[in-house]
Amino acid sequence: ILPVVAVVGRPNVGKSTLVNRIIGRREAVVQDVPGVTRDRVSYDADWNGKRFVLVDTGGWAPDAKGMAAQIAEQAELAIASADAVLFVVDATVGTQDVDEAVVQILRRSGKPVVLAANKVDDQRSEAEAASMWNLGLGEPFPVSALHGRGSGDLLDAILDAI
Ligand code: GDP
Ligand code: MG
Repeated sequence: ILPVVAVVGRPNVGKSTLVNRIIGRREAVVQDVPGVTRDRVSYDADWNGKRFVLVDTGGWAPDAKGMAAQIAEQAELAIASADAVLFVVDATVGTQDVDEAVVQILRRSGKPVVLAANKVDDQRSEAEAASMWNLGLGEPFPVSALHGRGSGDLLDAILDAI
C-alpha cells in the first residue's frame, strides 16, 4: 500500500497544476474558472524511486452552505484519509481567512504537512512566499507549478513527510 498525500487548498491556488507537475502528465484538470465541483482524484507519483499517491481535491461550488464551509469539509475528508498533506497557498495573494480555517483542521489532524507557496514564478516573489511562515506550519516551499521552479525541494520535503 502506497503512502497517500492529499493536496488541499483554496480553489485556484494551483493544486491541479502542481499535481500535473509532480506526476509529469497533464491529467489533473486545471480550471481557469474556480468553483466547479469535482470528486477527489488519485494519481500515482514517484520521486527518487519512492512511489506515493497524490489526491487532488477539486473545486467547490459556492452554494447556500457557503464556500468556506465546503472547503473546510472537503479538506477534512481528504486529510483524514491521507498519510501527509500538501497544503497549497497562492503566494501572490497572501493568506486568506479560509486558509486559517484549513490550518486549524491541519493542526488538529496531527498529520505531517508540507506547505507549498505556489505561483512564485520568479525571484521577486520569493519574499511573498516567506510571508507564509505566519501560517505556523513551518517552512513554506516557494514553487511555480506552472514553470517547475522549486519542485525538487518540495518533493524532497514530501518524501521526508511520508
Ligand atoms: P486549483 O483550483 O487549485 O486546482 O488550481 P488550478 O491548478 O486549476 O490553477 C488555477 C489557475 O492558476 C490556472 O489558470 C493556472 O494556470 C494558474 N496557475 C497554477 N499554478 C501557477 C503558477 O505556478 N504560476 C502562475 N502564474 N499561475 C499558476
Ligand atoms: Mg483543481
